[in-house]
Amino acid sequence: TSNEIRPDALIVGGGIGGLSTAYSLARQGLRVRVLERASEFGEVGAGIQLAPNCTRILDDYGLLDEARSLGVEPTRMVMRDATDGAELSSLDLLDMRRRYGYPYLVIHRSDLHAMFLRACRRVGVELLTEQHVVGYSTTETAARVELSDGRTEDAGVVIAADGLHSVARKLLVDDNPVSSAYVAYRGTVPADHPRACDVDLSEVTVHVGPGCHFVHYGLRGGEMLNQVYVFESPKALAGEDDWGTPDELDAAFAGTTEFVRDGLPHMWRDKWWRMFDREPLDNWIHGRIALLGDAAHPPLQYIAQGAIMAIEDGWVLGEHVARRRGDGGVDWDGALAGYNAVRPAHCRRVLTTSRAWGELWHLGGEPREQRNALLRVRDVYDYSFVDWLYSVTAVDPQDEPEMFTAVPLAAATTG
Ligand code: FAD
Repeated sequence: TSNEIRPDALIVGGGIGGLSTAYSLARQGLRVRVLERASEFGEVGAGIQLAPNCTRILDDYGLLDEARSLGVEPTRMVMRDATDGAELSSLDLLDMRRRYGYPYLVIHRSDLHAMFLRACRRVGVELLTEQHVVGYSTTETAARVELSDGRTEDAGVVIAADGLHSVARKLLVDDNPVSSAYVAYRGTVPADHPRACDVDLSEVTVHVGPGCHFVHYGLRGGEMLNQVYVFESPKALAGEDDWGTPDELDAAFAGTTEFVRDGLPHMWRDKWWRMFDREPLDNWIHGRIALLGDAAHPPLQYIAQGAIMAIEDGWVLGEHVARRRGDGGVDWDGALAGYNAVRPAHCRRVLTTSRAWGELWHLGGEPREQRNALLRVRDVYDYSFVDWLYSVTAVDPQDEPEMFTAVPLAAATTG
């Protein structure tokens, strides 16, 4: 069987986090095996936004040109008020590209996932499906996973990239996903669809409203419009199990502009994504087992950094492996300690900022007006909100940028 040669690293989960990490480690010359529970590798959902802190890594991986050919490089990011349609603020993404040296891309999730899958195949990652990991154990020099059919597999290190409902996370903390009571509907239509003709496909736009927001952007070289509707579910707030249903979707957007409401019939109405995150966790390492991606830090998606953090995790781990790679193999204790010294602190900031952004977006009444007034006077070329995210992916804690404490943001959220 394929299991006879022990890999250097086992990766549990073949999502964007698991595959990008497999590529990062295989590129360092390691023998890597991915264990995926599903019967096929794939991604559900629609678009994903890749900010410069991600495209910088794709460039280092030699994958940026491929990603650009699959995606769209929008020119502007715009925030509008969903109730009256007024433009509140914007970012010039071409200027941003000059600032950070790398583009802002939007790409179909399945295209990004498939790109990493091809990259893994090129560097000889072993990619196994129908591998349901149910247990973990570790010694000082190796880790073991147990599969649902009773088999076990060993390696020098196990990276658990098993997503929001991670089994491995239980080794470190006894917590549960935190429900935000918000739910997302997604959908795409082709560019020649009447709805897409009303939309500027070169922009990423978010319409923010009381208890709801709507995002749209173009995908696949502008051949497709991606739309995402997100709202707070009254049934979730009332503690009902059956929450986030399509009737709630329509009701949540009843007070928004005609343009926002016109997209509702074109959503996929038979599936929806309830939004959960978890409390930040400051230690992701248990012996030779490390958490990565949503298993370690599932965020609310408001600053669009979930998959990016997972990709950054894998790249940072690869950098630490590169530094500690001797003739006799990798100093895994050193590499894992280096990873654990920098990533949890960064991701904690992203998780808490994501929650704060959600609150800011969803304000109603007078706080909404105060927010709008502050956003309207914001300088379009002021990057202080995003410098700490986009300017660098720190490999060592001392390189982590100072975080801008957003005074206007705090004023608006508490107003
Ligand atoms: P997952 O994608 O959950 O992958 C986990 C994998 O592990 C799966 O393949 C699963 O089958 C497998 N698995 C699970 N358990 C086991 C087991 N026991 N044994 C073996 N395999 C197992 N992020 C961005 O960066 N930008 C965005 O614009 C963005 N927009 C978003 C919009 C929405 C509406 C949502 C919901 C999320 C968004 N995100 C975005 C977040 C992003 O989707 C996630 O953070 C990211 O996909 C997490 O990747 P992952 O590989 O860590 O986990």
